[in-house]
Amino acid sequence: MGFDTSGLLPLSDALQGMLEQLACSCDSEQLPLPEALGRVLASDIASPLAVPPFDNSAMDGYAVRLADLASGTPLIMAGKAFAGQPYQGEWPAGHCVRIMTGAPVPAGTDAVVMQEETQADGDRITFLAQPEPGQNIRRAGSDIGKGACVLPAGTRLTPREMPLLASLGVATVAVRRPLKVAIFSTGDELKPVGTPLAHGDIYDSNRYGVRAMLARMGCDCLDLGIIPDDPAQLRAAFIRADEEADVLITTGGVSVGEADFTKQLLDELGEIGFWKLAIKPGKPFAFGRLPRAWFFGLPGNPVSAMVTFDQLVQPALAKLAGQRFERPLQLQAIAAEPLKKSPGRLDFQRGIMSQGPNGLEVRSTGSQDSAVFSSLSRANCYIVLERERGRVAAGETVTVEPFGGLLL
Ligand code: AMP
Ligand code: MG
Repeated sequence: MGFDTSGLLPLSDALQGMLEQLACSCDSEQLPLPEALGRVLASDIASPLAVPPFDNSAMDGYAVRLADLASGTPLIMAGKAFAGQPYQGEWPAGHCVRIMTGAPVPAGTDAVVMQEETQADGDRITFLAQPEPGQNIRRAGSDIGKGACVLPAGTRLTPREMPLLASLGVATVAVRRPLKVAIFSTGDELKPVGTPLAHGDIYDSNRYGVRAMLARMGCDCLDLGIIPDDPAQLRAAFIRADEEADVLITTGGVSVGEADFTKQLLDELGEIGFWKLAIKPGKPFAFGRLPRAWFFGLPGNPVSAMVTFDQLVQPALAKLAGQRFERPLQLQAIAAEPLKKSPGRLDFQRGIMSQGPNGLEVRSTGSQDSAVFSSLSRANCYIVLERERGRVAAGETVTVEPFGGLLL
């Protein structure tokens, strides 16, 4: 407590407020399948084929007609069917067809009897069990019907979708152009890695985190580097980003100390809201429009920048990129130790979850100061503690959110 938290904007309101304004702005293009990895489908993919395209055998064994088995006498093998080489010959009564997995079943087949349930004596095959009708036959279209929607628009293509599309004979796909995102860090104290630090300097870490998350999302990144706290340079950077990118993401300069500065500039260039979010870490956050590009101003503290990106910017960028976005799973876990918490904000504490004797349990990574980066790198989940909740005692149930694709 210590300060009044009643005027802070809840995370869900902030998200809703942003998402209502955003729409996908990325054109589509047609790409060969292998080049489309990581891209977002611009339209639904309807299957041009039935999968499998023909009735085929699920086993190595024998194709049979049930009527031929009724007498219980052995059947004579009429010939063989292989994957890619269907059986073409006659199939007289009292005969069966040797068949391999994936081979088309000959017309009239009622079932395939697996090899292990037969005994062969030359061409005379004895069947040890009575098959059910349809047994071991994969029916045409049983996986995917012709014309069925296999992947909806907005699906991001991962290695899992590639073989599926190939199995349908899809050679090219309509995908969205990647979202172009300009980024820069603000702060006189920031130096790029690979350069020495003077007293009072620190390395710019946020840009590396933001770039990595953008890469995970499949966005094109225009990295404008570090911009000092100087109005003329900031103005030039804002204008360049607005001209060249769909989105600008900055870190730093949106908290009380410097906000006036950035705020003045942004008020002049666009329509930006400066929000105080009811989440921890990540209170100061700016969102709005430049003349062409959308703007997200993240807090400077490294952990706050990562958490606000993950929780707020990620869903917003997904919408702009035309990508379907699903909230990560939340699970219930037992707090294995007490957790510090003051009522007033929704906490995204960094935790380590593990399988305990009584189910999922979670511990804190230690200091939850938003400048302590190791709290994030050692964690494998957020411990999501409700806004009004206070200190958590060991043994209480808490919500955990395993890190999703962005932070893995
Ligand atoms: P600010 O939001 O600019 O007031 O920054 C808040 C805190 O985060 C300060 O301690 C900054 O030095 C630090 N900070 C801001 N930007 C970065 C950055 N890009 N990398 C690491 N620390 C930063
Ligand atoms: Mg700063």
